[in-house]
Amino acid sequence: MHTDSVAGDGGDFVIQGDICWSTGPQTLEIKPDSFVVCKEGKSAGVFEKLPRQYAHLPLSQCHGKLIIPGLVDLHTHAPQFVNRGLGLDMELLDWLESHAFPEEVKYHNLAYACKAYHFFVEHLKHGPNTRILVYSTVHVPATMVLMDMLEKSGLVSMVGKINMDRNCPDGLREESAAASLDATRKWLDTCAARKNEYVNIKPILTPRFIPSCSDDLLRGLGALRHEFNLPVQSHLSENRKEVEWVKKLHPASEGYGAVYRDFDLLGSAHKDAAPTVMAHCVWSDEKEINLLSERGVFVAHCPQSNANLASGIAPVRRLLNAGVSVGLGSDVAGGTNCSIFRAMSDAIQASKLRRTLLNVDEKTLSLEEAFYLGTAGGGAFFGKVGMGYSGSFEPGSDFDALVVHDNALADPFHLSVRARLEQAINIYDNHLIEAKYVRGKLVKFSQ
Ligand SMILES: [Zn+2]
Repeated sequence: MHTDSVAGDGGDFVIQGDICWSTGPQTLEIKPDSFVVCKEGKSAGVFEKLPRQYAHLPLSQCHGKLIIPGLVDLHTHAPQFVNRGLGLDMELLDWLESHAFPEEVKYHNLAYACKAYHFFVEHLKHGPNTRILVYSTVHVPATMVLMDMLEKSGLVSMVGKINMDRNCPDGLREESAAASLDATRKWLDTCAARKNEYVNIKPILTPRFIPSCSDDLLRGLGALRHEFNLPVQSHLSENRKEVEWVKKLHPASEGYGAVYRDFDLLGSAHKDAAPTVMAHCVWSDEKEINLLSERGVFVAHCPQSNANLASGIAPVRRLLNAGVSVGLGSDVAGGTNCSIFRAMSDAIQASKLRRTLLNVDEKTLSLEEAFYLGTAGGGAFFGKVGMGYSGSFEPGSDFDALVVHDNALADPFHLSVRARLEQAINIYDNHLIEAKYVRGKLVKFSQ
């Protein structure tokens, strides 16, 4: 048995440490000083004593460190990374006009896109997220640059070229629905041509939100979705003014979510169909929540962004009670922090504020639930789209894992493993991530 080696250079290996993972929304499995085995990029399970058949594998000893699954970000905007922390004294629609859209216009310039996306991808490599759903901009060449960089990073991700043909500035507004659909088809064809190079990345259809897409565009995207059997990501019921706007644009519709459904962009009643992930759902009423549940839609809960842009507090407990699959999103740059540790911390805080401020009789989110949402909860989306289940050490899951050097924090050995996990989540410092594995390969290592 080898010790103190850096495992994860392609072969099978074992990590020893204090291992925690979710086995369900309420259940945190904790195995102190145990062994997790990676075989062919997948977890072969967690063992208190290392079985004889794995004794010959390289062993990374991480005594006193937490070993947890990689975190999953179900919603972020790559071009907004360089825009973090700006305009956060505004609400959503004003912030889009004054900050988000002007930044995205710049991505027609490939040199700018290369520089800005390099910062984004390098930052992600050093953080705790191992899987990410990403929006780019309307520009196909810049989207390909981003996809190439993400592929090389070793992270697993899906990227969406945005569609928008109305209610946005020149430079972002695609000429017509037909032009937007044509560019999308060309982008999908380019991705298909690179399918041997694209091991870690896939495209996802991305109408920005209903106000920025004409009926013709939405109809065409619904058809493309079926033709290519693609998943969809978009925004839903984020902010009150936006919800009112959608009502005016689609007065005959039953609601915001129903508009997506009517254009066949909102999940499906068939469980094998490519799923949809909708960010926010802050203002989804009972009817819309039931629709999300019936159609197997994933919700990306983005509590930091919802607070920054004064959108509100999403009814996560009601979504979970209705059987909706929920994960967490950073929503950079509505959110300022890419770390899903931060989103876990904020999700707990937001659920407490919701209960207090709205005086609703809803159970607040526990640490176990927040950890589940940011790992296996979001990780299930990648399983549904054929990219491997993650966010867990259950045998057969993709081996996405973090070694958290939490003994860098004050006096950790007097705390239980659960308390150390709680502290790491709420402190969300990237320096605590000593090693990060994605599909069994080492993406980051630092000492
Ligand atoms: Zn967003």
